[in-house]
Amino acid sequence: MSKIIRLVLGDQLNPRHSWFSEVNPDITYAFIECKGEGSYAPHHVQKVVGIFQSMRTFASRLESQGHKVYYHKILDSREIELIDILHSASVKNNTHELQFMMPDEWRVKENLESLKSRGFKISFVSSEHFISTPEEFSNTFKGKKSYLMESFYRKLRKRTGILMEGGNPTGGKWNYDAQNRKKLPKNHVLPAAHVPSTNVEDVYQEVLEANLPVIGSLRDPKHFYWPTTPEQAMDIFENWLEHCFEFFGDFQDAMTVSNWALYHSRISFALNTKMIDPLTICQMAEEYYHNNENIPLNAAEGFIRQILGWREFMRGVYWERMPEFADTNYFNHQAKLPQWFWNGKTKMKCLSHSIKQSLDHAYAHHIQRLMVTGNFALLAGIHPDEVDLWYLGIYIDAFEWVEITNTRGMSQYADGGWIATKPYVASANYMKKMGDYCQNCSYNEKTKTESDSCPFNSLYWNFFERHRDLLGNNFRLGMVYRTFDKMDVHTKEAIRQRATYVLEHLDTL
Ligand SMILES: Cc1cc2nc3c(=O)[nH]c(=O)nc-3n(C[C@H](O)[C@H](O)[C@H](O)COP(=O)(O)OP(=O)(O)OC[C@H]3O[C@@H](n4cnc5c(N)ncnc54)[C@H](O)[C@@H]3O)c2cc1C
Ligand code: SF4
Repeated sequence: MSKIIRLVLGDQLNPRHSWFSEVNPDITYAFIECKGEGSYAPHHVQKVVGIFQSMRTFASRLESQGHKVYYHKILDSREIELIDILHSASVKNNTHELQFMMPDEWRVKENLESLKSRGFKISFVSSEHFISTPEEFSNTFKGKKSYLMESFYRKLRKRTGILMEGGNPTGGKWNYDAQNRKKLPKNHVLPAAHVPSTNVEDVYQEVLEANLPVIGSLRDPKHFYWPTTPEQAMDIFENWLEHCFEFFGDFQDAMTVSNWALYHSRISFALNTKMIDPLTICQMAEEYYHNNENIPLNAAEGFIRQILGWREFMRGVYWERMPEFADTNYFNHQAKLPQWFWNGKTKMKCLSHSIKQSLDHAYAHHIQRLMVTGNFALLAGIHPDEVDLWYLGIYIDAFEWVEITNTRGMSQYADGGWIATKPYVASANYMKKMGDYCQNCSYNEKTKTESDSCPFNSLYWNFFERHRDLLGNNFRLGMVYRTFDKMDVHTKEAIRQRATYVLEHLDTL
């Protein structure tokens, strides 16, 4: 029996949290694996296994440090929902006081708050993970209709002193994104992804037995290759600093059929479960940049911007705009996600490769998510709910605060421009410029209106034509509309016809 139960959620595995700094016999730390959290979306099996394995290791460590731990495994009871299991455990333990780290998800926060009406004394503390706070975000954008990542990022650079010299940005510029758009040169040899190896057979068997609605594959549970401890995550990151950091900027947007990680760091799962600390990661990257001449500034700034900039910014938008964010559908898109999003069986190489890779590894890098799958879903007019569900399930790093803002906001423009200043859409030109998908595809990337023309090409123009009333006045799209308007009527009609065919045959592309 203990006076207080402190719940540790699967994405709150922060070993540096002040909760754990001293042992208190009056406090029990509760870890709950449950069907409710594992089945509100069909999650990738690697994500479920990765979270449960990481929770179990974290709980055993706390126990070995002398903390009291209550651990509910997925098969331990028939109860489904997190709060019901927590309620039962508290009653058994005769505990009336529950303490929580602030969850990162609106739905979970509401659920935990509802325990008050069941007679518990509840309280929340910070998760002590993020560099910024929702309040800082709110104050930065008070009275604004849209939010600019760049201004929030600059504010955080100044406050943390990261990549700053005196009051100025290192190198004289804040942002080197324009240098980060190179295609991989021919015969460029990419490093193999450095990965850990953990035996997760027990957890995997239990997940299968629990009949959770999982997707994707886990080929070798004896050698699980996502980090499940902070040490493994740091090992991946340190190896990345040594072997990949140098090229991260240059090839950040590159795509290829021959490698799944390129120069990306693969630390998002460890960051989002809070095993590792974002400020420490940015400081380590900065220090490595200063100590190693081979690391160009566009790589250092580009990497730090993703974490200090985009990641903190997306969290701010989430808390500022939820729950209304989850209902946005600016274009009133209604189509269903094609079936092949769940198995990769499409003739479009860029999509089949990105989807199959996602099913195999629970991972795709940013440009695959934004400019391949996201681009297609937006051009094809898929309902944002369907798109969200897919992204929330398939990626190992998908937690709603960072998934929905990226998917519904940045990728689908369903928020009408709170996050992005224009929709991220592109034709095959972009795909061809940034990768090698088109040369391995059944469709012709050069044409728009033939029966074998790349579907992106007609959909691209048709998207802008369909949504002229919503996008026509966007100053960043003036050039697009001017180019479209210059096309002759026959070309416009042929594009319309091909796009209509594509939209009516999404499932068989
Ligand atoms: C449609 C869509 C959905 C996405 N869903 C998620 C998601 O569910 N969870 C998630 O963590 N990221 C998401 N992202 C952002 C990004 O794609 C991933 O963070 C990144 O691919 C993770 O791989 P990495 O660790 O190798 O990243 P790297 O390319 O090595 O970048 C380093 C780190 O920067 C951070 N980062 C980079 N881009 C973003 C971004 N746009 N927003 C927030 N953080 C960023 C991540 O923590 C990442 O680990 C999404 C992007 C898009 C376009
Ligand atoms: S031709 Fe079109 S569908 Fe095929 S890989 Fe290129 S962009 Fe994708």
